Amino acid sequence: MAEILVLVDHADGAVKKVTLELLTKARALGTPSAVFIGAGYDKAAEKLAEYGAAKAYVAEDAELDGYVTAPKAELLAKLVAEHAPAAVLVPATAEGKEVAARLAIKTGSGVLTDAVDVSADLVAEQSIFGGSTVAHSKVAKGTPIIAMRPNATAPEAAPATAERVDVSVELTDAAKLAKVVEKVVLPKGDRPELTEASIVVSGGRGVGSGENFAVIEKLADALGAAVGASRAAVDAGWYPHQAQVGQTGKTVSPQLYIAAGISGAIQHRAGMQTSKTIVAINKDEEAPIFELADYGVIGDLFKVVPQVTDEILKRK
Ligand code: FAD
Repeated sequence: MAEILVLVDHADGAVKKVTLELLTKARALGTPSAVFIGAGYDKAAEKLAEYGAAKAYVAEDAELDGYVTAPKAELLAKLVAEHAPAAVLVPATAEGKEVAARLAIKTGSGVLTDAVDVSADLVAEQSIFGGSTVAHSKVAKGTPIIAMRPNATAPEAAPATAERVDVSVELTDAAKLAKVVEKVVLPKGDRPELTEASIVVSGGRGVGSGENFAVIEKLADALGAAVGASRAAVDAGWYPHQAQVGQTGKTVSPQLYIAAGISGAIQHRAGMQTSKTIVAINKDEEAPIFELADYGVIGDLFKVVPQVTDEILKRK
C-alpha cells in the first residue's frame, strides 16, 4: 500500500484531534506514516499508534516546536524525496497551510487547501470562494499535498505499531531565520478549542451585549460545546476575536453548529457552512441563515436559548 505522510499537529506532544482525523483519512488512501516534529514525542506515541500510524518519523527537537513553518516544510520535503509517498496530508490550520505552501514550492508539487474530503484516487473535495462553491480537484504534478479542514472526518481508532524512525534535517539559512522566542499560551478554559469542538454555539449581533453572551455560554456548557461569535459581535467588543467564525475569523466544521441571533451573511457562512448539522435561532423568518439551516427556530433567542439549555440539563 502506498505511504501517506501525515503531519502531526500537537502541543508539547498532546496530539490534536485533527491529527487523528488525518490518520483516519490516510488509512482510506494507503498506509499512514505520522511525521512528528517538535518536543514531547513520548506523550504522542500511543495516540498515533492507536489511530493507525504504521510508522512515525520523529524529529524530536525543541527548536522546531510550535509555529516554525520553514523547518517543518524542509523536513517534509526531505521525507518526500526519500520515500516518495503517494500524498502528504496536513491540517488546514494557519500553520498547516503555510507548511503546505512551502512544501509545494520545495517539491514542485501541487497543493490543495481546505479539503473536506479526499477520495481513494486522491480527488479532493474543497470548499472555495469563501465557501460559496465546492470544487473537486486533483493534483497533476509532483506529490499531492492536501490540507484538510479540522472536523471533516470522524476519527476512528485502528491500532498499528507506529514504528519509530528518528529523522533530522540540516536547516538552510532561510529556515534558520525564524525561531520561536516565546510560546503563545492560550487562556485555559473548560470549553473545547473552537476549531476542534464537535459542537459550537455562536452568538451574533442579536445577542445585544457582552453580558448577554452568558446565555450563549450556558447553552454551550450544557452541551460541552465551544462558543463562537459573528464579526458584528466581535467588532462590538462583546466577545474576543479568537472566537470569530467566518471569512476573517476561524473556519469550523463541527457535527452541530447553533447560530443564535446571526443573520447568515456570506462572510459568516464561509466559516461554518460545512458543519454537519446547522441550527439557527433568529426572530426574523427572512434571515438568510434559514436557507442554510437544517433546523430553524423563529423566535427570540432570549426565550428560546434558555429553554433549550434547561431541557438539555434536565436530561443529563
Ligand atoms: P446582523 O447581520 O446584524 O444579524 C443579527 C441577526 O440577529 C438578525 O438576523 C436579527 O434578526 C437577529 N436578532 C436580533 N435580535 C434577536 C433576538 N432577540 N433573537 C433572535 N434573533 C435576533 N462576519 C462574520 O461573522 N465573520 C467574518 O469572518 C466576517 N468577515 C468579513 C469580512 C469582510 C471583508 C466583510 C466585508 C465582512 C465580514 N463579516 C464577517 C461581516 C458580515 O458581512 C456581517 O456583517 C456579519 O456577519 C453580521 O453579523 P450578525 O449576523 O451577528 O449581525
